[in-house]
Amino acid sequence: MPPSPASDTNGEERQIAPVLPATAEEPETASALRSRQPDRTGLTDLEEEPIDNNLVSLPAEDFEEEGTGDEARPPGFEEGGEEGPGLGPSAQGEGRARRRPPNEPIDLASPLTAVSGIGPKSAKTLEKLGLKTLGDLLWYVPRRYDDYSRLKTINRLWYGEEITVMGTVEDVRLRPIRGGRKLVEAVVGDGTGSLRVTWFNQPWIADRLRPDKTVVLSGKVDQYLGRLTMNNPEWEPVERQQLHTNRIVPVYPLTAGVTEKWLRRVINSVVTRLAPRVVDPVPEPVRGSANLIGLGKALYQIHFPDDWEALQQAQQRLAFDEMFLLQLSVLKQKLEWQQLVSEPLRVGPEWIERFRTSLPFKLTPAQDRALDDALTDLAKTKPMNRLLQGDVGSGKTIIAAAAIGVAAANGAQSAMMAPTSILAEQHYQTFSELLPRAADIQASSIRLLIGATSEPEKEEIRSGLRAGSIRVVVGTHALLENPIEFRRLRLAVIDEQQRFGVEQRAALRAKGDNPNLMVMSATPIPRSLALTVYGDLDLSVIDEMPPNRQPVETRVLYQNERLRAYQFIRGQLEQGRQAFVIYPLVEGSDDTEPWAVVEGQPRLQEEFSPDYRVGLLHGRMRPEEKSAVMAAFRRGEYHVLASTSVAEVGVDVPNATVMLIEGANRFGLSQLHQFRGRVRRSEHKPYCLLIPDSDTEADNERLKAMESTDDGFRLAELDLEQRGPGDFLGRRQSGFAELKMAKLTDVRLIDKARREAMRLFEADPRLEASEHTQLAGAVARFTSAGKGEIS
Ligand code: ADP
Ligand code: MG
Repeated sequence: MPPSPASDTNGEERQIAPVLPATAEEPETASALRSRQPDRTGLTDLEEEPIDNNLVSLPAEDFEEEGTGDEARPPGFEEGGEEGPGLGPSAQGEGRARRRPPNEPIDLASPLTAVSGIGPKSAKTLEKLGLKTLGDLLWYVPRRYDDYSRLKTINRLWYGEEITVMGTVEDVRLRPIRGGRKLVEAVVGDGTGSLRVTWFNQPWIADRLRPDKTVVLSGKVDQYLGRLTMNNPEWEPVERQQLHTNRIVPVYPLTAGVTEKWLRRVINSVVTRLAPRVVDPVPEPVRGSANLIGLGKALYQIHFPDDWEALQQAQQRLAFDEMFLLQLSVLKQKLEWQQLVSEPLRVGPEWIERFRTSLPFKLTPAQDRALDDALTDLAKTKPMNRLLQGDVGSGKTIIAAAAIGVAAANGAQSAMMAPTSILAEQHYQTFSELLPRAADIQASSIRLLIGATSEPEKEEIRSGLRAGSIRVVVGTHALLENPIEFRRLRLAVIDEQQRFGVEQRAALRAKGDNPNLMVMSATPIPRSLALTVYGDLDLSVIDEMPPNRQPVETRVLYQNERLRAYQFIRGQLEQGRQAFVIYPLVEGSDDTEPWAVVEGQPRLQEEFSPDYRVGLLHGRMRPEEKSAVMAAFRRGEYHVLASTSVAEVGVDVPNATVMLIEGANRFGLSQLHQFRGRVRRSEHKPYCLLIPDSDTEADNERLKAMESTDDGFRLAELDLEQRGPGDFLGRRQSGFAELKMAKLTDVRLIDKARREAMRLFEADPRLEASEHTQLAGAVARFTSAGKGEIS
């Protein structure tokens, strides 16, 4: 409940009632506070008339832990000495009684100690939660809400429902159970009935749950011997007043030494005072057309919602902001990019014809389109900035080769960067073989530069690049190491771009003078998302496979079916094919774990002896060892390759037809799809066998999607729903750190934000209009916080 601001503009001290005011067990201060609980007013008033900034100090006891005796006592707000007048001044030592002019906007970047009532001790506690600034605190979104206004009584519970109940502890026992573990068993009653509640292996709960204590329990209603129970519910001691608050209560993510109750009170106090004064950066016309509530109201309601509808509106508003800012920062980058000037790289139709005819295959129509896009971009006077997306094995490399050929035909240099040395070597081999034939580039002017390249050779490559005698360099991030300089770098290609950070992409680009940029990715991204995250890039999609590629027949197996899998592999080896066996780890922490490659490889070797050889590949090997193993596998000297995920990207061994993945549940679906793409590179029928290291239903359910669909986009969407964008788009993808509320699966939200951003951008691309000043600031903050550069 927001307090009324009306009585508050005179600069007098104002008492803030916590939302969950006090406990019956508490001394007088609490009841005193309760009686000062402010009136309820509409928040709209607050928005229209920002309140005066006289943040009053709170009585120190207001934040002191109430000493319920059942929780570790977190540091309370310090007593005395912390009653600064509000934001800023106290931190800067300007004196405590300073009054601020009304309407002064608050600075979201202020440290928390600038808020009266929060001293260094409390700030330190809050910092454990990652909360350093006022903005952090205002945007610290609850992980769930308990609706005390709609509590259910025990006699009305149903088996299977997720609910919150409140009751009094009638009985508590601690019972030893099998394996030396302990079971806490409690009976909680509310006058309408009683409920058996159990917690496994959390014996300390028995000490905290004293008979007669009132607790709130959240979880699923279960059944035991015909009676309703709850197993391992979340619980909290409650004070009777919570009942009277009769409202939806936020539950925050916590860490050791911070209690829910304390945090709630701190946040309530800060939000109540400051949320209404946060300046809304989204201009009024946008708010109107997107149907959004004001920011101040949203920030209040996200913490202390009046009802579920208000909460939803608040969530929508905050989610919109993130998407909107992301879109604006992406559009801004696109604009900046488009203003760059670059030298056009052109070739005639004969050149293109020759390139095509020198290929061992005919390009697919999708490759044709991607090639056209690339040629058109290169011929322009502004640099190419294109994302080439296509499922594993769709044939992206050849498009890069063509672009490199065009650059060379114009006397310019190209660099291609791949995330692993194995992949870089593979591209190097492809180009060395193809480009002399198809594009007239001498093999000697194509070079490989990886970490394992000897120092003298590196030196030689460096001078060749400086002099311009080397036309094409393929490598890993070793390419970024100074002092590599190019004479005329006009094309930078980045393969498997999701594996690189923003900085690395920018660093490669910086080696040239506005070079053309082509980034390639096999991670299929749903279109709405691609337009958002990669909105500054033009997009080409290779959406079909070369002919004669068969879908990978995929099976999820149980642990005890491993031998069957080995027999199957043997069958394939007998037909002259090869197999990958992937393990999630390099070394296991104990012998019983079957998923470490250094243990798996000898077992496999034993299994397939004496007829077949099993190679070992993992990321801790030296680069030259890795290359040697890969080369031997490619030559067929190893029949089976036991590997970690280093074999995930790009590895091209067409004769391999089986991909067995141990601990498959540990990988995302998109990643598994990448793995199985490794065995889909020839006309032989490919197989993928997935062995999760647990036989739990949920894992198996998730993996079953691999059996039923071969559609990389569908799998990516499932991943996104199940695992969120982190792994999926690459850890350091721009802007994502900033997306807390917005769901990347929320297509309607993305579209709405995109539409509004485009419209605003068309009218005022530089956000120069006076009504966009706040917004420009917000975009800049968003961009720098999320390292919003995408290319
Ligand atoms: P990715 O898109 O995963 O990078 P690659 O470019 O490595 O795929 O191509 C996969 C394999 O398909 C390579 O062996 C390549 O030579 C082959 N390939 C590419 N395009 C065609 C095509 N149009 N017809 C037949 N094979 C092709
Ligand atoms: Mg590739």
